[in-house]
Amino acid sequence: MSAGVQANAVVQRTVAIVGGGVAGIAAAVRAADAGWRPVLIETRTKLGGRATSFDDVRTGIELDNCQHVVMGCCANILELYERLGVLGEIDWHETLWFARGNGATDALSIAPLLPAPLHYGPSFARMRLFSLGEKLAISRAFLAILRMGPRGRVCWQGRAFGEFLAETRQPARVVELFWDPVVLSACNLPSARCEAAHALKVFDEGMLAHRFAGAVGVSRVPLARLYDAAEEIIVRAGGELRLRTSAKALAFDGARITGVVCDDGVVGAQAVISAVPPDRLAKLSSGTLRAHDKRLARLEEFAFSPILGVHLAMKRRVMKTANLALPGRATHWLFAHEGAPAGSGFVQRIEAVVSAADGWIGLGEDESTARVLADMAWAIPGVTRDDIAWSRPVLEKRATFASTPGIDAIRPRARVEAGDLKGGVANLFLAGEWTDTGWPSTMEGAARSGFAAAAACCGGGGVAADLPAAGLVRLARSL
Ligand SMILES: Cc1cc2nc3c(=O)[nH]c(=O)nc-3n(C[C@H](O)[C@H](O)[C@H](O)COP(=O)(O)OP(=O)(O)OC[C@H]3O[C@@H](n4cnc5c(N)ncnc54)[C@H](O)[C@@H]3O)c2cc1C
Repeated sequence: MSAGVQANAVVQRTVAIVGGGVAGIAAAVRAADAGWRPVLIETRTKLGGRATSFDDVRTGIELDNCQHVVMGCCANILELYERLGVLGEIDWHETLWFARGNGATDALSIAPLLPAPLHYGPSFARMRLFSLGEKLAISRAFLAILRMGPRGRVCWQGRAFGEFLAETRQPARVVELFWDPVVLSACNLPSARCEAAHALKVFDEGMLAHRFAGAVGVSRVPLARLYDAAEEIIVRAGGELRLRTSAKALAFDGARITGVVCDDGVVGAQAVISAVPPDRLAKLSSGTLRAHDKRLARLEEFAFSPILGVHLAMKRRVMKTANLALPGRATHWLFAHEGAPAGSGFVQRIEAVVSAADGWIGLGEDESTARVLADMAWAIPGVTRDDIAWSRPVLEKRATFASTPGIDAIRPRARVEAGDLKGGVANLFLAGEWTDTGWPSTMEGAARSGFAAAAACCGGGGVAADLPAAGLVRLARSL
């Protein structure tokens, strides 16, 4: 045993982490690695929060609550997967497919030999969805995004991405068929309603800056399985995973948090990391606590945006590509999953995703399936209701916080500012994808927030470095 471990064993401190979503898992793993004793409190029976799976009683299959994708630029969620030993469970795809109707598709692919930001150039030039004039318009906007980089994006904070598209003279058809499908999938709002800084970040850091940034990663196992190793890491550090345990309140003595009041008793702790959504945190915080911590002042101002996922089990293999965007349709993306279990009655599973699904709330399952099927049939001719063995729509009304213009102004930091003694409670740390990560609501934002909160609380680790911008990208920014 090393001297460091012995020292930790003597003075090991407990951190209670409320919420076992990606943010809470990331925080717990990092706290364990830093020598603290994490107690992870999760109300549900499984870890993963919004990025998890459920046992579907109708089919007996473990289904994700919705298709989740990561991208090559998501350094923190990928680091978490690596720590959990599941990075190899992610399948990577270097091509995004865009449907043109009636079975025609365009591929937007990473060219093997070209450096960023030129790597999408050849396939983009070959796309038939857009005219030459439209491609020039898109290139004009990309050039502006490339040139402004992270520093230039600051000027767009608080404005709608639609304003940027107007300023760079994007035709309406290009907004509908190119910008919106990407912005909807990454930020869960259309360009006209989306915070410009978030959308610009997606196109810059998620496409242009690095060759691998835009690669799309899809788990080949149910999402909940990705977190299986978390419990062992926590327990090895002397901690505990408490599933089926609901936090009721943060215990506050007027100066410090002393623990978490749960439905089965109090978890005493030297520090607490909240990793629940803002509305839940508001319920856990007394008026006295909120009066002491200005980070908790604006929790009620967060709005949310829904996502509908429709699982479709197909009797024949109807999708030939791993993913397919349906530009201009109400259903935004399709993802194909091969390898159906023997005797399951289907050969391919498709997950259809409808982002910003406000207009789908209240629809029955049959109606949702029928609408998705109509969009699929537009893209893949010959697909009919008879091809579907079963379908399972899952609507998440509060899928993501709404990335509306100005949202970053109300996102709180993980820790009280150094030297700001009146700013808040020093041993309360905030995590969750809605905190001040600069990212839209994503697993990357959640992992980043968990790492940041754990570093602020327990030391060590911290947020993983972003993919470095390629040389040509840096050159373009310096000119
Ligand atoms: C349908 C859908 C599709 C999405 N698609 C993508 C995608 O493709 N890519 C991507 O990166 N992101 C996607 N997201 C967003 C992503 O899932 C979230 O941003 C991320 O998972 C949020 O993680 P979190 O840990 O911050 O919060 P959560 O996942 O909400 O975790 C909070 C946890 O706290 C628990 N909890 C709440 N109250 C209490 C309490 N009182 N006591 C104990 N526990 C409590 C909850 O049960 C939950 O497990 C999608 C989200 C949805 C819903």
